[in-house]
Amino acid sequence: MRTAPLLHRRRFLATAASAAATAPFLAPGAAASSPASGTFAEPVLRPPVVADADVIVCGAGPAGVTAAITAARAGARVRLFEAHGALGGVWTSSLLGYLLDFDKPGFNQELVRHLDAREARTLKGAAAMTYEPEEMKGLLDELCLQAGVKVQLHTRVAAAYRDARRLATIVTESKSGRQAWSAPVFIDATGDGDLGALAGCEWETGEAKGCPCQPMSMCALLVVRDHTALKDFIHRAKGTNVEDTKRAFRAEIMRGGVTPSYAMPTLFPIRENLLLAMMNHEYGILAFDAARVTEATMRARAELLQIVRALRRLGGPWEGIQLAATPEQIGIRDGRRLRGRYVVSREDLVAGARHADAVVRPTFPVDIHAYDKNHAGGGYTSSGVKMKPYDIPLRALIARDVDGLMMAGRCISGDYIAHASYRVTGNAVAMGEAAGAVAALAAQSKRLPHEVTWAEGVATLAKTRRA
Ligand SMILES: Cc1cc2nc3c(=O)[nH]c(=O)nc-3n(C[C@H](O)[C@H](O)[C@H](O)COP(=O)(O)OP(=O)(O)OC[C@H]3O[C@@H](n4cnc5c(N)ncnc54)[C@H](O)[C@@H]3O)c2cc1C
Repeated sequence: MRTAPLLHRRRFLATAASAAATAPFLAPGAAASSPASGTFAEPVLRPPVVADADVIVCGAGPAGVTAAITAARAGARVRLFEAHGALGGVWTSSLLGYLLDFDKPGFNQELVRHLDAREARTLKGAAAMTYEPEEMKGLLDELCLQAGVKVQLHTRVAAAYRDARRLATIVTESKSGRQAWSAPVFIDATGDGDLGALAGCEWETGEAKGCPCQPMSMCALLVVRDHTALKDFIHRAKGTNVEDTKRAFRAEIMRGGVTPSYAMPTLFPIRENLLLAMMNHEYGILAFDAARVTEATMRARAELLQIVRALRRLGGPWEGIQLAATPEQIGIRDGRRLRGRYVVSREDLVAGARHADAVVRPTFPVDIHAYDKNHAGGGYTSSGVKMKPYDIPLRALIARDVDGLMMAGRCISGDYIAHASYRVTGNAVAMGEAAGAVAALAAQSKRLPHEVTWAEGVATLAKTRRA
């Protein structure tokens, strides 16, 4: 049967052709680069479009994971894409460990109850508290699975395509290659406004279009022999003053021979002898400059190791101190702020603005970390802005320039000063809840987010909240 070998050859060619289609490095014509222009003309790719979601959320930090769970609880089919290997963003991939402005109703309080059920909180203030990052990872996995959210980790949003004004399709990159996804409504919760920028939204970062901007910081998990012996250096330990413990901790690091890049280093209690340290600043780095973020990440890790070794050499209560973990993602305070249908401003903070479509009322002061070792004494400043609790309206979570796109978390529409206040995670969670509820409603009622009233959003939220 001669045909068999022929069949095999045909099948081989067919397989080779399809492999070429999905793995560009095998694609014929790869020689399309033109050294003269210094560009590389990639072969056209046609990834299949998956259209099985009502709401697609990009970025699974405090805002994104909350938005996805809320939208799913509101009955929407939800896909959630996250660049790293864990849900939680700054809470987990950046090892934050400290929650602020967390006294908001709804999902904030549900998270607190779950953390307590896992004995995962140490500092237990109403608005400020510490938690165990590993417990947070497990909790968010569980809540997403329970809500039926389709999660894809290690997946980065890399392109976005509009149909006229409306965002229609995004493309992600992961080990599965480039994949295309479409949905009626999208939420950018990437923290850095990646999706909005890719879709053509106007945006700002830093004081305007670049640095001066807030520094990045790498947090660290430390294991000590006896945390009770370190009471004078631990944040909010009984009988201590917050500023004094930071100064005392700084003095110890300097006694060890190192001047920390962050002038107000802080030690947070996570669980018994497990502590979290914030003692690093990386200045003047834009969130979307991968080369410089890489340099900052390596520089920060080197500094953390240097500080821990210096403390260990001091002996006494520092004897045996270990650097247990550093995060895979350096902490990013500043990213793109996407232009929305309302811009939260410094004036709103000073006046304590009120809005009928208010989704959250931040109370956290303006917190601008130093631009360099000399600015603000290398610590932080409120830039002299006396804020009153103010409202963030739903309109600041809806893109002005692109339809079908919402934002939540630190990439919403606001100016530099307002961002420095509302960016903390208690507000990010509340914004995520609002965006999730309105996105689900819009998709299910075949409307655009800006066509949904906040009153409808509030009614939907009530159904998604767990007592
Ligand atoms: C060092 C530091 C200290 C801070 N201290 C506090 C504090 O003590 N308490 C507090 O409450 N807040 C604090 N903040 C502020 C707060 O943590 C942030 O503002 C928080 O990031 C807001 O949450 P988010 O969900 O908007 O963003 P993020 O937490 O940054 O989440 C964004 C998520 O999107 C993912 N992502 C990014 N790009 C893509 C892409 N293209 N495709 C797919 N996924 C993507 C990221 O991996 C991440 O998981 C601090 C921030 C920093 C950096």
